[in-house]
Amino acid sequence: MSTPHVLVVNAGSSSLKYSLVDATTGESPGSGLVERIGESSSTVVHQGPEGESRIDGAVADHEEAFRLALHAFEEHGPSLSDFDVVAVGHRAVHGGELFSAPVLVTDEVTDAIRDLIPLAPLHNPANLEGIAGARTLFPDLPHVAVFDTAFHQTLEPHAWSYAVPRSWATEHGIRRYGFHGTSFSFVSRASAELLGTPLEETNLIVAHLGNGASVAAIHGGRSVETSMGLTPLEGLVMGTRSGDVDPALHAHLHRELGWSLDEIDRELNRESGLKGLAGENDFREVLRLREEGDEGAGLAFDVYVHRLRKYVGAYYAVLGRVDAIVFTGGVGENAALVRSAALSGLEPLGIQVDAELNDVRSETARLVSSERSRVAVAVVPTDEEWEIARQAVDLIG
Ligand code: AMP
Repeated sequence: MSTPHVLVVNAGSSSLKYSLVDATTGESPGSGLVERIGESSSTVVHQGPEGESRIDGAVADHEEAFRLALHAFEEHGPSLSDFDVVAVGHRAVHGGELFSAPVLVTDEVTDAIRDLIPLAPLHNPANLEGIAGARTLFPDLPHVAVFDTAFHQTLEPHAWSYAVPRSWATEHGIRRYGFHGTSFSFVSRASAELLGTPLEETNLIVAHLGNGASVAAIHGGRSVETSMGLTPLEGLVMGTRSGDVDPALHAHLHRELGWSLDEIDRELNRESGLKGLAGENDFREVLRLREEGDEGAGLAFDVYVHRLRKYVGAYYAVLGRVDAIVFTGGVGENAALVRSAALSGLEPLGIQVDAELNDVRSETARLVSSERSRVAVAVVPTDEEWEIARQAVDLIG
């Protein structure tokens, strides 16, 4: 087969997601997930032409996880040799100020990702493990790192600066970076296609609402503002993250309750958000409990929607002219109620959701605004793997 394919890799601390992606169509003939790396009972669940197959075994590290993935391709297909695999594309989380575009992985690049570990202490080490394992197993292929922060490197200083002593930024990199950039890049291009306008002339507010969630103001294809900051904790209410809180909260909890900084960090990242308010981080569960009249779930939904609405209003003002408000991610693509609730009553701003269109379930990009709405409202499914494959192919030419 002659179309270029990329093996897209997303390495977590104990997991490895891989997908062979046709960079031209986004189709994936084979993919899988290795879980519990480093434990005695690892598994790989592989999707190939025969459907799903599962291999159990002990996988010590990411290099072995790649061996198992290769074994899965050999055993269950498709055979990698049947495809024109031109690169390995790595999802990399934090590129700091160093990376504003995808890069070919070299030793200098891995050193730089290592230097950025203080900014992403969980993610960057896992990404490095994945890169090292893949480089060992695929020494002859170019490896491309695509950073989640890169898309937001177009933010101007007034948007990325915190109002703290300037030396914090210049000496320690304390500033807003933003995340979900691969998704925003994919969705902004797909949205312009849906609207039939050139990306360079299209202004968008894109809400990526998944388990993690953030919103971005995108002016002519360039990110000008986004809700996540130095870390992915800032901004919207998420599955287990609080999003915005008073920055004095840490000091207060430490002083009054004696909690350590690590405990507070853990509570805000893992026990807050929907989970904190409703006891459930899965949005479907929150909706179900809310339907049953559960008070916590009702509050969680209301806080979630209210926060989102505040950001939409703020980003409307940042952009001045908005062509479309776009929803993506598991919640954004599926929860019609979130879309309608977040935008209800905004007709004076030219925003009007069509109730019927909004309720239609579909996996394709679509408009859900009424004909009279000056600002389009759209649902655009994201595809971060395709975006990584495309960026990798663009880079290597
Ligand atoms: P993601 O991280 O993009 O995979 O999104 C995961 C989130 O999407 C979880 O909170 C899911 O509960 C939520 N989600 C998936 N499907 C639906 C649905 N049909 N309705 C509401 N939320 C959904």
